[in-house]
Amino acid sequence: MTAALCSAVLPVNLLADLGYPVLSMETLIIVTGLGITGALIGAMLASSFLYAYFLSLVVYFYLEIYFLSWTATQIVISFVILLALTLLLRLTDTKLLPYILAFAVAFSLSAVLKPDIPVIVGSGPDPQLPTSQDQSILHIVMDEMASPYQSEYPPAAGHPAEGLLDYLVEQGFHVDANAYSVAAETVRSLSAIVALNPENTGYQAFHPGAVIANSVAENLYAKSLLEAGYEVFILQSSYLDYCQELESVHCLTYSRTGHINEISSAGLGERIKLAYLLVHEAMTSSTRSGVLLYALGVSLTGSSNPVLDFSVPLISHDLMQGEVLEQVSSIKPGEAYFVHLLLPHFPYVFGPDCEHLPIAKWGYPVRHAPAVSPIESYKSYWDQVACAEKLLSRIINATAGIEYLTTIIHGDHGARIMWQTENDSRDDDLKTLIAVRSSHVDPGLSSKPVILQNSVISYLKQLIE
Ligand SMILES: [Zn+2]
Repeated sequence: MTAALCSAVLPVNLLADLGYPVLSMETLIIVTGLGITGALIGAMLASSFLYAYFLSLVVYFYLEIYFLSWTATQIVISFVILLALTLLLRLTDTKLLPYILAFAVAFSLSAVLKPDIPVIVGSGPDPQLPTSQDQSILHIVMDEMASPYQSEYPPAAGHPAEGLLDYLVEQGFHVDANAYSVAAETVRSLSAIVALNPENTGYQAFHPGAVIANSVAENLYAKSLLEAGYEVFILQSSYLDYCQELESVHCLTYSRTGHINEISSAGLGERIKLAYLLVHEAMTSSTRSGVLLYALGVSLTGSSNPVLDFSVPLISHDLMQGEVLEQVSSIKPGEAYFVHLLLPHFPYVFGPDCEHLPIAKWGYPVRHAPAVSPIESYKSYWDQVACAEKLLSRIINATAGIEYLTTIIHGDHGARIMWQTENDSRDDDLKTLIAVRSSHVDPGLSSKPVILQNSVISYLKQLIE
């Protein structure tokens, strides 16, 4: 009984942290399954001294995941606690059990009492600020968007991603199809852009487990927009902060993890697997050791990859057809939107029509799936690009014909399929595209090699000054 409760309450809490209601089908089924597994292991070991080890290990993971972070001292302290707990359990002939049971009950109650966590957290001023601008800006960063122009591994003939550049030109964009980022890392590439200086690739990384993972060094771009009289809206992920507590900026931050319950249209079986994988991810990101009891279940979901982060493209997909589309469709003069979407970023979980792929068919860059060839990986990648193109087209259509609007769409680096492997190349790491639509820019396709940061910053400066 104690073992059953102890095995089940940790995932209840993790799922609650990831946005799952305690009474959702996902939570109930996963918790029941783990509770039964814990009870079985507990019953099997009940008459043996090994029971003390099993139970103290499960309790230890509570402490490790919820109450300790990984500084060197705390690792030592947590192991001392583990040893002490095991010894106490053995010596007291499990008289400690009622206390552990009480702790488990109290801990599971805390999951029920947790406030709902919204998918997007917002801050910024409520009333409309007076603006002095008569133009507006829609600036969208598509993370990991490569250019299909002269790609070493191009989309297959007739594949929707093959027509991406022509599509953008048809829609009135000037497209730089041969743009190279100064850095293959998101944080460096985009920090330089908002610093309005291609050489300023510095950024700030927060401690592991922080709500927001990184921050740009200085968002001079947002500050300049404010000074120029724009009302500034930023939609960012919890991976990289651009808002930096700038009080006049309307800042929306979407969580990179969790909330699949609200966005996934997959069937119940698949939803339960996704929720289980999220629990696994939450555990492996907060501890280096992982939790064996739960890790064992991962193989049952059909996933073969320890590096998942799969909620990233799913959430971005949902935002593009919801929040972003809604807000920018009614963009007013004087408003500037900066939107950072983690699409077509890996893993590749969408087919070309944005259909959800089964977990076993998800694609990854080669560094996360060494058994997969670059050709196969690129195939999955272009499918997800086609999905991103489809979502972009809705935004592009909704904002077509707005005279005062300048739209800037670009990637932050290349597809990075072979990045950090022995086959990496400049094109694969860095080549991306820039598309700009404005009444002041002539549509057309340019294949002249340009530096991403130089070109984007020069467009931005024209809009600020
Ligand atoms: Zn990136």
